[in-house]
Amino acid sequence: MLTLEGLSKTYKTGDAALTEVSLSVPKGQIMGLIGPSGAGKSTLIRCINRLVDPTAGRILLGDVDLVRLGKADLRRQRRRIGMIFQEYALVERLTVMENVLSGRLGYVPFWRSFLRRYPGPDIQRAYQLLDRVGLIDHADKRADALSGGQRQRVGIARALAQDPELLLVDEPTASLDPKTSRQIMRLLTEICAERGLPAIVNIHDVPLAQQFMQRIVGLRAGRVVFDGAPDQLTHDA
Ligand code: ADP
Ligand code: ADP
Repeated sequence: MLTLEGLSKTYKTGDAALTEVSLSVPKGQIMGLIGPSGAGKSTLIRCINRLVDPTAGRILLGDVDLVRLGKADLRRQRRRIGMIFQEYALVERLTVMENVLSGRLGYVPFWRSFLRRYPGPDIQRAYQLLDRVGLIDHADKRADALSGGQRQRVGIARALAQDPELLLVDEPTASLDPKTSRQIMRLLTEICAERGLPAIVNIHDVPLAQQFMQRIVGLRAGRVVFDGAPDQLTHDA
């Protein structure tokens, strides 16, 4: 379970991107984060994975406060959080399989010789994940040979490969057509449900959020202005 307590972020420029945001995401819940551009959605996600230092507040993942960690601890704690990105962030010249494994092992130079020496269970598990996202037949293709939807499937498998306790998903379908977007959202929500994996999904597309999210949090000017079920969302939230 993830709990944010009074999370605030003011950038050095003076922009108050988040003000006193408090919320919990329980196990298995998939929460959509909506709001106009500049509302603070990216800042919220970046605070949780600690690409951004919050100005105040606590970020509890289980009973660890991610705000108060040294560098080494932070690296370890970050592995508990799986990230999925808008532009997929794959390593284009590596294969699908290598990209998935990179979620588990981290990026290492001299990949192929490293993988040959690396013991089997991770590879077996990566095949299972590729099967789950429908890419088992593409394992040995280079990432740059895939369509956008397929790339995002690799992104999902890579995030799962590290056995995360939380998924942070930043505009996963912003680069995809509507039909592919729905397929990706369906896959993502099914996988979260299967694993009881909580997720925060930064999602621009409100109808898509309403179709797939169990809960929607609306941000405006850095504050929570809506927190409820998708069907309670009114037009001006
Ligand atoms: P959203 O993701 O909802 O579009 P952001 O979190 O990107 O919102 O931005 C929230 C506010 O913080 C905006 O006013 C934005 O200009 C500001 N902001 C975002 N990143 C930075 C930064 N690195 N430095 C200064 N201000 C920033
Ligand atoms: P997106 O909304 O696609 O995530 P943004 O346009 O908000 O991207 O931000 C692009 C980059 O610029 C990010 O690194 C963000 O932190 C930074 N940024 C955004 N707003 C500001 C700002 N007002 N001042 C300085 N940096 C900013």
